[in-house]
Amino acid sequence: MGSRRPAGAEVSADGTWTNFAQRVSVRPQCAVAPADLDELRTMLKQATADGMRVRVVGSGHSYNDVAIAPEVQVSLRHVNRVLHVDERRAQITVQGGATLHQIRDHMRPLGLAFANMGDIDHQSIGGALSTGTHGTGLHMPAFASQVVALELMLADGSIISCSAEDTDSDLWDAARVSLGALGIIVSVTIQAVPTYHLRRSDSVVSRQQAYAILAAPPETGHVGLYFMPYIDQVLMWTAERTQDPIDKPSALGEWFRDVVKVNHGLNAMGMVARRAPRLVPALSRAFAKGIRPETTVDSYDKVFLRPLFVRHDAWEFGVPLERAHDAVSTLMSTIEDAKLPYAFPCETRIAPAETAWLHPTHGRPTACIGAAIYPGVDVETAWQQAQDAAVALGGRPHWGKWHTLDAATLSTLYPRWDDFAVLRGQLDPDGRFGSPSIDRILGPVSRP
Ligand SMILES: Cc1cc2nc3c(=O)[nH]c(=O)nc-3n(C[C@H](O)[C@H](O)[C@H](O)COP(=O)(O)OP(=O)(O)OC[C@H]3O[C@@H](n4cnc5c(N)ncnc54)[C@H](O)[C@@H]3O)c2cc1C
Repeated sequence: MGSRRPAGAEVSADGTWTNFAQRVSVRPQCAVAPADLDELRTMLKQATADGMRVRVVGSGHSYNDVAIAPEVQVSLRHVNRVLHVDERRAQITVQGGATLHQIRDHMRPLGLAFANMGDIDHQSIGGALSTGTHGTGLHMPAFASQVVALELMLADGSIISCSAEDTDSDLWDAARVSLGALGIIVSVTIQAVPTYHLRRSDSVVSRQQAYAILAAPPETGHVGLYFMPYIDQVLMWTAERTQDPIDKPSALGEWFRDVVKVNHGLNAMGMVARRAPRLVPALSRAFAKGIRPETTVDSYDKVFLRPLFVRHDAWEFGVPLERAHDAVSTLMSTIEDAKLPYAFPCETRIAPAETAWLHPTHGRPTACIGAAIYPGVDVETAWQQAQDAAVALGGRPHWGKWHTLDAATLSTLYPRWDDFAVLRGQLDPDGRFGSPSIDRILGPVSRP
């Protein structure tokens, strides 16, 4: 495991595509990166004529096989332009291949910002939407609620659009989180907010204190909790909007904190943990001790984006908020009972109810409970057990992270599952946007 910054997916000389986490790879029969929508349309028509299935891939930052394309793989990396800016409404329309980073760069000089973000901004907007990517905060929207319109290209090359204003539009609630299975998201209009500063506080609390926070999360702002197997200390960060000026460590201090302490620290812990598992509790305690209580004020993006260069794999289930304590404690005891060399913080976040039908937080405030681990630690059995426990609590998997659920189980977890299936049958009756992964997750297309 290296600590070099991973840019995303990689393509080897023989055309094999490997995702960011280096966990899944595929050698597509055909890989294309159209220059514009005309080329994309031509490619789709060709795939239809050849009877081939098509998957669009974003930045390859999903940990699992959801983006795997054995037949035709389409990258929208050249379909990433800004199409329109409506300064009065603070809305920006971009093509589906634009990355969150590129969008952020376009918004900055306009004084605009994302209302909420996750840990990184390497994802494409199409990919971030399609898997339900979220940040944290009881009332802080996921990307699915930060957009107000989108356009989908269907298998026949036609484009359909939908927006938040179509209040009776099923398409709007289906398309925002659709795993690339309805069509290709070719444009997205983002509702931005005026740029802002956040006051971030980092501290260490006990598990009991952390459970109390999950039972009654702050009504405003953001909160993240990093539980560490085997030890009682939980790393916590909270953030609130503020008008205060930037007040943070020097650039060198930040580099030391983010790169040396966190990334190199985790990297070193991983190496030791695998060779000497009995040292894990002591290592984790030392890591927690190294986290000094600290309050900083910075621009929103600097607060949200904490670079994690260490290669890792990730598990995440969203459980109803009131089941958070049960789900986190079961996850911890599953890892601890299996005596896994687990020296990696497990992040738990809070997210509001979303309206998109297949959003993992659909219809209920949710605790998004995560676990991450370095490659090379055999976690499958423990993660499977933790998955069973999460599902028993009504948990739904993050679409871009480890899970082994299929349509039979998933359909019981989403109240609008059947409606999504009907719409999928209408929009993609031939299953052109399918793959082995989509076959497992969503099941076969039901033709109208
Ligand atoms: C280090 C790291 C940190 C992360 N942090 C967070 C976080 O804070 N919060 C969170 O919720 N998730 C997080 N994730 C997960 C990540 O946000 C999602 O997996 C996201 O889908 C990745 O976007 P991508 O562009 O890489 O999409 P890919 O992984 O390439 O594709 C994901 C899915 O989107 C589909 N897709 C991509 N583009 C389009 C399009 N234009 N039209 C239709 N379908 C499309 C693909 O077909 C596939 O089904 C993180 C992942 C990593 C590796």
